[in-house]
Amino acid sequence: EMIGWPGGCGDGIFSPGGAISNMYAMLIARFKMFPEVKEKGMAAIPRLVAFTSEHSHFSVKKGAAALGIGTDSVILIGCDERGKMIPSDLERRILEAKQKGFVPFLVSATAGTTVYGAFDPLIAIADICKKYKIWMHVDGAWGGGLLMSRKHKWKLNGVERANSVTWNPHKMMGVPLQCSALLVREEGLMQSCNQMHASYLFQQDKHYDLSYDTGDKALQCGRHVDVFKLWLMWRAKGTTGFEAQIDKCLELAEYLYNKIKNREGYEMVFDGKPQHTNVCFW
Ligand SMILES: *Cc1c(COP(=O)(O)O)cnc(C)c1O
Repeated sequence: EMIGWPGGCGDGIFSPGGAISNMYAMLIARFKMFPEVKEKGMAAIPRLVAFTSEHSHFSVKKGAAALGIGTDSVILIGCDERGKMIPSDLERRILEAKQKGFVPFLVSATAGTTVYGAFDPLIAIADICKKYKIWMHVDGAWGGGLLMSRKHKWKLNGVERANSVTWNPHKMMGVPLQCSALLVREEGLMQSCNQMHASYLFQQDKHYDLSYDTGDKALQCGRHVDVFKLWLMWRAKGTTGFEAQIDKCLELAEYLYNKIKNREGYEMVFDGKPQHTNVCFW
């Protein structure tokens, strides 16, 4: 519902942090395009390439290394002076990769980059993903919290077109570590990608709703119940409480920005009001 997927549809699990959520996104995007990879491995499929911006989080490369895709297959797209991905550069690099015979399978856009707090232009990126039939992931580990704010959520416009979204309540929303979710638009995909049907755990004849059996969607076996902390905070603060907390943080960032932008001895890293709480100066 927060992402804006039609009818509140979607799927997801809590994972041990944003880095792992991003890796899950890559794993599921690869499985969606080449389901045979699950049984046959990388040798059975063409050379894949993923795209993300120069300012994206290093975990995208880490995930590619862990999944056997390789860091050379993560193509870094140029950013403008505020750290936002340049869509025309993305399209150019996709065409270039296709010409070389590589298969573009994922674009990871960042909603709230770690250093500049930049929001990639999600609508333009969604158009390109649609045109070339590429999985669109949004790494909202840092900026996803702004979806709780009616005042600031426009910065993620286009996120509703993503195939998957990383959202870290343990960052902006202040939930104690660890609390990160990977949300996937298509229901059932995580299950078919990761399930191994361990018969001693995942019996089909339990007398409760089996949709609560999320274990086979995950790579882990035993897991923390990370949602519990978020649930308790949500019950205590309410949606409006989270919203007030986030609006306050952004207000404080703007206050800091106004205090130092013209101060002698300080230089802003980029011009203009920051879109997130990152106030970058030298
Ligand atoms: C922090 C961050 C991550 C990694 O999240 P962890 O929970 O620390 O693993 C991923 N992407 C972005 C944009 C981040 O800022």
